[in-house]
Amino acid sequence: MKVLFVAGDPKPERWTVPIQALLPEAEVHVWDADGPAVDADYAIVWQPPEELFERETGLKAVFNLGAGIDGLLAVPNLPPNLPVVRLEDAGMSAQMAEYVLHQLLEASRGMETYREQQREGVWKIHRPIKRSEWPVGVMGLGHIGKRVARTLADLDYRVNGWARSDHSLDKVTTFAGADSLDAFLGSTRVLVNTLPLTDETRDILDHRHLSQLIPGAVVINVGRGEHLVEDDLLRAIDDGHVARASLDVFRQEPLPADHPFWQRPEITITPHISARTLRDATLEQITGKIRAHHNGEPITGIVDTSRGY
Ligand code: NDP
Repeated sequence: MKVLFVAGDPKPERWTVPIQALLPEAEVHVWDADGPAVDADYAIVWQPPEELFERETGLKAVFNLGAGIDGLLAVPNLPPNLPVVRLEDAGMSAQMAEYVLHQLLEASRGMETYREQQREGVWKIHRPIKRSEWPVGVMGLGHIGKRVARTLADLDYRVNGWARSDHSLDKVTTFAGADSLDAFLGSTRVLVNTLPLTDETRDILDHRHLSQLIPGAVVINVGRGEHLVEDDLLRAIDDGHVARASLDVFRQEPLPADHPFWQRPEITITPHISARTLRDATLEQITGKIRAHHNGEPITGIVDTSRGY
């Protein structure tokens, strides 16, 4: 079995050494843009070049080094019947739950106010929060959204969850499908986006939808930058309808230095760090699936390319 590692890491051995250790039966290669085909059976990729699929025509499956496969599905010559396998959690959902909780608490517990008071040497206690004033809505109830929803519900926040299909989650009010989006947004103040980027979800965070949130809304985007219509967010903030936003993903990354978001005190910017790929957990999952697939056993996480996730 031959496994090809294709990612723009300047030190690919950080990946290939553990891959080889986890898959001693495999011959592990690193993609060489100028080299010949290695006749790989499996490719482990992040944002691969088009040439991969021209050159390596015997691939049995391609394993993405991330949960979001929008970048991989956009490679024009990805063979239509080649199984694409995405990362399933692999330590990301806990990080995402932490990130969302932190951003929620900044708003719901008024932490900025206490930082300001400290700067001025002021000891002043504000009234305790009412959780009922901070209903959260999680868009996407997959590996990540479910964990986020569960974490916040366990802290007694009122949590709504929205997905394409029906879900049943303890202490979470669930909504399914496009027809229920208005009802979901209308009962949500803190909107958390964990959707995958597909034709159906692109630009979903637009002015119309943001205006349906409960006033004083908070937007936390950890999905993809292309979910958010950036000018519409600024408009919704200027309207006074959205009070603050925490954005981890952007249409253009790195966020350009002259982007208006940098100047807005209502917006918290982080550089796509809400959930980092954890190498050990990631490679353990991927190599386990490669071995299973090679042995003809079923594996989970195969992307339905017609749905786009
Ligand atoms: P999953 O595939 O496990 O879950 C996706 C969820 O989105 C499912 O609940 C699905 O519904 C729902 N969904 C998809 N399309 C629609 C739609 N049109 N309408 C309503 N709901 C929809 O993905 P993960 O949870 O693992 O990851 C989600 C995304 O998070 C990734 O695609 C990626 O973009 C992003 N991400 C961001 C990271 C970061 O660092 N910022 C890191 C990791 C991931 P259903 O359950 O009905 O199928």
